[in-house]
Amino acid sequence: MKVTIFGTGYVGLVTGTCLADVGHDVMCVDVDVDKIARLRDGEVTIYEPGLEEMVKRNLASGRLRFTTDPAEGVAFATLQFIAVGTPSDEDGSADLQYVLAVAETIGRHMREYKVVVDKSTVPVGTADRVRTTVANKLAARGEAIDFDVCANPEFLKEGAAIEDFTSGARIVVGTDAERVKELMRECYAPYSRLHDKLMFMDVRSAELTKYAANAMLATKISFMNEMANLAERLGADVEQVRVGIGSDPRIGYQFIYPGCGYGGSCFPKDVQALARSAAEVDYPTELLNAVEAVNRRQKQSLFQKLCVAFDGELEGKTIALWGLAFKPETDDMRDAPSRTLMEAVWKSGGRVQAFDPQAMKECRRIYGERDDLMLVADRIQAVKGADALVICTEWKEFRTVDFEWLKANLSKPVIVDGRNLFNPRAVKRAGLRYFAVGRGDSL
Ligand code: NAD
Repeated sequence: MKVTIFGTGYVGLVTGTCLADVGHDVMCVDVDVDKIARLRDGEVTIYEPGLEEMVKRNLASGRLRFTTDPAEGVAFATLQFIAVGTPSDEDGSADLQYVLAVAETIGRHMREYKVVVDKSTVPVGTADRVRTTVANKLAARGEAIDFDVCANPEFLKEGAAIEDFTSGARIVVGTDAERVKELMRECYAPYSRLHDKLMFMDVRSAELTKYAANAMLATKISFMNEMANLAERLGADVEQVRVGIGSDPRIGYQFIYPGCGYGGSCFPKDVQALARSAAEVDYPTELLNAVEAVNRRQKQSLFQKLCVAFDGELEGKTIALWGLAFKPETDDMRDAPSRTLMEAVWKSGGRVQAFDPQAMKECRRIYGERDDLMLVADRIQAVKGADALVICTEWKEFRTVDFEWLKANLSKPVIVDGRNLFNPRAVKRAGLRYFAVGRGDSL
């Protein structure tokens, strides 16, 4: 089967590469000329485990192609996936300019029947806007070519994107058209061998399903962070509470880790966009607003703990920072808690000495060269000459530490741990002050 994908970011590139890997012929289109040139050479510009090797393999087989020519992309296949970004607009709503630009492109170049498959995360009603956009372009050309629009939201996680795409729990497709169902079944058949993973529903429900899933996950995180903050003040240990509640199968252990707030390209913007959609229909989303507010506060918590440790005097201090990415196994720093922390430290006159196994290039791209940011080669270098250590990302390599060595190398023996990586007793035994998340005994 032939498939065209617009957008070669985390979602588009993973989708295209995985579909090529199961035998489809895939054409990926992007407006980023440099990115496409590199992809043609097999160079993947994002960090996603296993992806580069898979891209190279499918390039070599000829099943995966890259182009900047939209006409070529539109002509290539019946299925036209849209996998471009939907960042937050100024008011928090999803900015649909990239999605609608692709819809225009398809309307401009199509010569025969197409199915426009919306894989980007978009507010309820976007399929209608895409339909109108394509129809208007066709009308402007004086053409009346048949086409369908369906919603196919993506649920992959960065860091485990290939596994999620190929072995995800479900494939949601929003359409009422039998013709579209047939084509989507054929496209995803290789992933439905054990049992049919396709869930067909109406377009609006499919669009809302994606936001509901992310809002639910964000809610779990903010709930646990609220419990952590309470535990801290009540002298309880949220890690024990976590185990205690997770054992109830109605709650479960998944996704109930307290931390320094959720970040990334999805939860913050999707919770906000859903709240904006609700505001447009005059529904006050009290729960979603609270989820967001708790998260904003949680992202400030690392800096607040640093202020406690240094009596508010961070001017001239050097903070070692382990972890820049919003979570392990990715280089993505969009809305990462590390950014909130670094920016607060800089504002109060401190400097940051940071290490991340994958996100250093991204950090440099975001902040450029500056005197108060040193990006160093490893976690040891980050600590050398620093006053205190902050941990923002739970990369595996940060999980074991020689606390004696740490104590000897930090001018002030303080660890602010946003991921609860260590046993508070072991840290304290070494003579370090340990600020974890929601662990009453660690303060
Ligand atoms: P991204 O920012 O990594 O990539 C978007 C790509 O689209 C860029 O390469 C950009 O150059 C390209 N693009 C922009 N306009 C274009 C056009 N007119 N034609 C062709 N290409 C164009 O975005 P992403 O993280 O892959 O997210 C894409 C969508 O998927 C978003 O709606 C996001 O919410 C959703 N999503 C993301 C994830 C994730 O983990 N990143 C997971 C599920 C869903």
